[in-house]
Amino acid sequence: MSDLASFQAWMSDFASVIAEQADHLTDLDRAIGDADHGSNMARGTAAVAALDQEEFSSPEAYLKKVGMTLVSTVGGASGPLYGTFFLRMAGSLAGVQDAGTAELGSALEAGVKGVLARGKAEPGDKTMYDAWSPALEAYGVARDADADVSAALQAAAKAAAQGRDATTDLVARKGRASYLGERSKGHQDPGAASTTFLLESAARTLA
Ligand code: ADP
Ligand code: MG
Repeated sequence: MSDLASFQAWMSDFASVIAEQADHLTDLDRAIGDADHGSNMARGTAAVAALDQEEFSSPEAYLKKVGMTLVSTVGGASGPLYGTFFLRMAGSLAGVQDAGTAELGSALEAGVKGVLARGKAEPGDKTMYDAWSPALEAYGVARDADADVSAALQAAAKAAAQGRDATTDLVARKGRASYLGERSKGHQDPGAASTTFLLESAARTLA
C-alpha cells in the first residue's frame, strides 16, 4: 500500500538519483539533443524535494503540487510531460489515502495517458513513452497475477529499462532528436532513461 509518506519518499529518492545522474542524462541529451535534460530534471526534482517543508493532506494534494512544480521548473519538452504525468496521477488518486496495486496501476495509467495526450508520441518514436509503455504493460500483468505494489513496480521498472535500452537502435520521430533523423540512431533516449530512474525509485519506495 502507498500512502502520502510513501509518495514523498518516492520523490525524495528520485531527487537524489537525478542529482547523481544529471551529468549522465545531459551526456545522453548532448548526443541527440541540446545537452540540458540532466540540468532540467535536477532543477525540477530539487524543487520537488523542497516540498518536504510543506504539509499535505493526501497523495492527491501532494502529487498535484509535484506536477505543478515540475511544469514550472523543469522546462524543455520534458517539463510539461512529467508535470502532466503527476497531475493526471493525482487526479486518479482523488479520495485515496493508501493506494493498493489496482489503484496505483490506474494512477500510472492515467499519468501515461496524460504524457500521450501532450506529446502525441507513438511506440518506437524514441521518447520516454518507449519506457512508459512496456512498464505499464508489465505492471498490468503483475497486478492481474495478484502481485503486491512492490513486485508490480519491480516488474515495471525492469520493463522500462528494457524499453530504454531498445531506444538506442531507434530513429527519433518526436522532439528535438527527430531533427537528426537517421543520425539519432545509436544513442539512448534521455527521457526514456529518466523515466526508468523514476520507476526504479518507485519500486524502492512505494511498497
Ligand atoms: P528538450 O528536448 O526541450 O531540450 P529535454 O531535454 O528536457 O527537453 O527532454 C528531452 C526528452 O523529452 C526526450 O529525450 C524525450 O524522451 C522526451 N520527449 C520529447 N518530445 C516528446 C514527445 N512528443 N512525447 C514524449 N516524450 C518526448
Ligand atoms: Mg534537451
